[in-house]
Amino acid sequence: MPRDPRFDPLFEPLKIGPVTAPNRFWQVPHCTGMGNQHPASLAAMRGVKAEGGWGVVNSEYCSIHPTSDDTTAPYASLWDEGDIRNMARMAEAVHAHGALAGVELWHGGARSGNVLSREAPLGPESMMAENQPWQSQRMDRQDIAQLREWHRLAALRAKVADFDVVYVYAAHTYLLAQFLDSAQNLRSDNYGGDFLNRSRLVRELLEDTRIAVGDRMALAIRIEVLHEDGSGAEERARFLQDIAPLVDVFDVTIPDYGVEMGPSRFVKEAPLEAHIAHVRATTGKSVVSVGRFTSPETMASQLSRGVLDFIGAARPSIADPFLPSKIAEGRMDEIRECIGCNICYAHDGLGAPIRCTQNPTMGEEYRSGWHPERTPALKKTSEPVLVVGGGPAGLEAALTLSRRGATVLLAEADAEFGGRVTLESRLPGLSEWARVRDWRLTQLRTDPNVSLYPNSHMTPDEVLATEAPHVIVATGSHWRSDGRGRHAPSAILGLSGHTVLTPDQILTGRRPDVGSVLVYDDEGYHMAAGLAELLADEGYDVTYLTPAALVAPFTSYTVEQSRLQARLIEKNVRILANQYLSRREGSTCTVTCAFTGNETSVAAASVVPVTSREPSESLWQALKAAPLSTLRRIGDARAPGLIAHAVHDGHRAAREHLSPTSAPLRERVILA
Ligand code: ADP
Ligand code: SF4
Repeated sequence: MPRDPRFDPLFEPLKIGPVTAPNRFWQVPHCTGMGNQHPASLAAMRGVKAEGGWGVVNSEYCSIHPTSDDTTAPYASLWDEGDIRNMARMAEAVHAHGALAGVELWHGGARSGNVLSREAPLGPESMMAENQPWQSQRMDRQDIAQLREWHRLAALRAKVADFDVVYVYAAHTYLLAQFLDSAQNLRSDNYGGDFLNRSRLVRELLEDTRIAVGDRMALAIRIEVLHEDGSGAEERARFLQDIAPLVDVFDVTIPDYGVEMGPSRFVKEAPLEAHIAHVRATTGKSVVSVGRFTSPETMASQLSRGVLDFIGAARPSIADPFLPSKIAEGRMDEIRECIGCNICYAHDGLGAPIRCTQNPTMGEEYRSGWHPERTPALKKTSEPVLVVGGGPAGLEAALTLSRRGATVLLAEADAEFGGRVTLESRLPGLSEWARVRDWRLTQLRTDPNVSLYPNSHMTPDEVLATEAPHVIVATGSHWRSDGRGRHAPSAILGLSGHTVLTPDQILTGRRPDVGSVLVYDDEGYHMAAGLAELLADEGYDVTYLTPAALVAPFTSYTVEQSRLQARLIEKNVRILANQYLSRREGSTCTVTCAFTGNETSVAAASVVPVTSREPSESLWQALKAAPLSTLRRIGDARAPGLIAHAVHDGHRAAREHLSPTSAPLRERVILA
């Protein structure tokens, strides 16, 4: 398909300082959980983005010195010669596809706990480190001079590593943002006090960096357009204007990560525009910003209305590294849109390499050799594969198998495909999650290799009657009703009868009798909180009970926790934390304090246990002895997990189908 001319401006090159970006697609710096321990993984992943058409591909936050150590969250570094070699691999991989490589020089200041380097954290003040009970060293003039030198040397190392764009990173509550913030910076010297003084260090680093590498590298700054407390729009605008002569690209945001990195549950496309729209006119320089842009129309409109020069993206580039190429080639239906679940970000917090719900190849480029757009062709394509179950695992397996050339039959018991994704997208705010289903179905519906069979609940005999020699069982799982979970390895006494409803039942339309409902969350992700909100919206008197200290604790990793908890509070859901459900008699639930063992009673006409799931594996069990060439169970039928697990497992099964497999490569130090 030819490119839609409306999108031509997205493909115009733009000069930024001494270099020229080939187009307007700017992959902003984003964490990957790979950091300096996985340089080959990083290089391969960033290289794929460049191959997919991102004109500028940036690193994650890149530490300039051991005093900026975010362990346990992985980060890149440019501390020494070894780091130059490793980071050069990334620049090389990006250059191989004609894109510019950028690096975001980073000092975490008081926020870096330095648990690995054992250096004292640094800060404008002696402040608490994040999540740790120790404090930063108040920087004196000598410390500031030293910091400037570390930053300058790191910029020079970035130049040696052949990067084209270098960032001064003055946002996201790290060191420079700490200096800028009047609440944190209480200094009485000329680095504290009024904004001119508080911004002195930012200006000095820009000057230093410009002198050190400005001849060959474009200079970008990542900075917020408001003060930390949300005020100061005019003061910041004046500052951006003042520093504009030193800057080639402004990468701008606001001091609310919950909006910038907002999950789709709370934040939709382009939420920053109203805040940052003035920067281009104020500074006269190129501007980039993010907005989880997945619609080419929105992107083109950002350029034509003069809001942005570059479409900034982290998540959209993770969900679809080939998004720019698909727009360029008019393949709009093939764009795999980010669903805004923030599972990509979660894994950085978990200290593990990135993964993505929508894109199963993300993070697998090096270790498994997976490419988002290419899969090796099958040698034997004549033998059909029957995939039973059309949830995320089955849909992904069917699509990838077909791309390998297989003939695929996909049978789904329900009228609608999508399995758990169809159900979960009915929870408040989660409609975008249906993209996991819709993108795959859109591809499958026009795929001549695939036959779709909705309304087809398959028994073992029916499976064998298809005569497909290969069967993949993707029958998913169902929520347990008996309360088994982390705190109750066996059933909870009294959890039976029609007043106990599972999440599956509620999401397929059943409702408790009118009155009080206890939603018991022993799982910890979003399901119980979502159901509590849904039921509260419908007028039920809802109590949310959890043995954890917080509502939906896993959502701390996906930048949702505090807003989820706030939402339940706002909707008058009664929250009982640090307590587990021990038993139920009639409408009396006995709950036990997780610390003291003290018991109290909670009245609830109905109970919704959200504790654990039972794999639906009976079909797989029944087929084990059948005369099939291959049989495999995947996704939640194998081990209930995240949607990302199911998609990944489906993809893996398709890649491994009738193909030799080898263990993923490991990046590690091997002693001589
Ligand atoms: P996963 O996340 O592993 O893809 P899901 O629970 O989302 O799992 O999807 C499983 C799908 O399998 C559901 O849509 C369910 O209706 C379907 N399914 C379960 N058992 C059968 C069966 N015997 N025949 C056909 N489809 C089935
Ligand atoms: Fe988007 Fe979720 Fe993928 Fe992150 S993990 S890029 S939020 S789909």
